[in-house]
Amino acid sequence: MISQGKNTKLTTAIMTATHTKKFLIIRLLCFSALAFFMFVLNSALAEKWEEKRRRMIEVDLKPRGITSTEVLKAMMDVPRYEFVPESIRGLAYADRPLPIGEGQTISQPYVVAWMSEMLELEKGMKVLEIGTGSGYQAAILAELGAHTFSMEIRPNLARDVKIRLRLLGYRVQVRQGDGYYGWKEHAPFDRVIITAAANHVPRPLLDQLKPGGKLILPLGNVRYYQNMTLIEKNSEGETRASQHGQVRFVPMVGRAQE
Ligand code: SAH
Repeated sequence: MISQGKNTKLTTAIMTATHTKKFLIIRLLCFSALAFFMFVLNSALAEKWEEKRRRMIEVDLKPRGITSTEVLKAMMDVPRYEFVPESIRGLAYADRPLPIGEGQTISQPYVVAWMSEMLELEKGMKVLEIGTGSGYQAAILAELGAHTFSMEIRPNLARDVKIRLRLLGYRVQVRQGDGYYGWKEHAPFDRVIITAAANHVPRPLLDQLKPGGKLILPLGNVRYYQNMTLIEKNSEGETRASQHGQVRFVPMVGRAQE
């Protein structure tokens, strides 16, 4: 026989269980509704960014002469807004450089596409970038199928960009240090891209370029303008430079300025 006290305890236990169950169901429903709302919001935002990227391709890249389908596809696929500070994300797809902190800038989309196109990359090539900055150019190189190595001299930028590229899923090896000396352990490279202005071509970077390789950099007066310069090394190791137009980049610091 169950006593009165035990009976009450049992009823209370059943009521508590029913309550807990109801509470759990309500929580589950709320959570599902929130997840669904986030999903819809995310899709809407993704569509908005995608539309902006499409415009960037049609208005800023194609009319100015970017023709490589691979480069245009990479520019379409890499979410540039993820590489600029949150406060100025609305400007992510404007064709202009933007500040990324420490007085540095992410290059304008046209220049990124142009430099990438001039490199004439093939999948699996080993590429060294000097000046990782936000990581955007590096992500484009990785998207193009390059085995990408990138060096950044500023410790804070290097730390942040390593995290950003990892979170976004780009396979880029980033090292903090003066890119003037290159990255000996991984040399030689098929391509070298310097995304900071220098008044001469760093000798170690030329030495780490394979025969048949290409190196590109903004070369000239680091305080004013530079000329986009492409250096090609032939199979005998001789180099030939060609100039492609005026640009303005932040200066390469460290040994390049001594
Ligand atoms: N490619 C970057 C933009 C480059 S801005 C992007 O896509 O966002 C130039 C970068 O070069 C800056 O981050 C600057 O800190 C870095 N830099 C300058 N001198 C350097 C050097 N000697 N070695 C490596 N990085 C350098």
